[in-house]
Amino acid sequence: MRLIFLGPPGAGKGTQAKRLTDKYGIPQLSTGDMLRAAVTAGTEIGKRAKAVMDAGGLVSDDIVNQIVSERIQEADCAKGFILDGYPRTVPQAKALAENMRQKDLVLDAVIELKVDEEALVRRIENRVAETIAAGGTVRSDDNPDSFRKRLSEYREKTAPLSQYYEGQGELVVLDGMAHVDAVTVAIEAVLEKDANAAASAARI
Ligand code: ADP
Repeated sequence: MRLIFLGPPGAGKGTQAKRLTDKYGIPQLSTGDMLRAAVTAGTEIGKRAKAVMDAGGLVSDDIVNQIVSERIQEADCAKGFILDGYPRTVPQAKALAENMRQKDLVLDAVIELKVDEEALVRRIENRVAETIAAGGTVRSDDNPDSFRKRLSEYREKTAPLSQYYEGQGELVVLDGMAHVDAVTVAIEAVLEKDANAAASAARI
């Protein structure tokens, strides 16, 4: 099972991807997590990415394409993977398609979680509050300025991916405002190609 999640920051991609990893036994590949790990480890990529990420901008296509290309060759991706936060630009989507073609891999689905922007701001505020309450460290880009920038980057560079995948007949749009469990049900229905269940869950 090879899957892409699309949707703005805070749409619930990570939450849903984590649920699917357990069910299908495939890893969630979050480019955001991979880049944050590179920043923490102080690698060359991490050093180049940190300032851009903190400001809410996008890291260069070359860097993320390379990271994902290497990651999907690892043994735990043999049965598939869930991409969360990649591709984020049309050039990244094209690079991924070429990369998968070379590796003889096919995409099973592209799922977009649609949410309204006011809800996103509230979700990010909640994520920050929950992290603080749990004694964790708040992400350095989870502040109002970076968040606004992340949203505008999304609108400008990532939203066009919906049309790109729709044009290829691969896109399914689900209501990310539905209850988190209902969204999971809808996703599973899509993956199991159960059209009726998908329609009665959160499919748009
Ligand atoms: P979000 O909650 O904003 O979706 P992520 O954890 O997916 O956060 O990503 C955090 C940051 O990492 C992004 O704002 C961006 O700077 C960088 N990043 C992650 N994935 C990509 C990508 N595919 N292309 C470019 N930059 C990326």
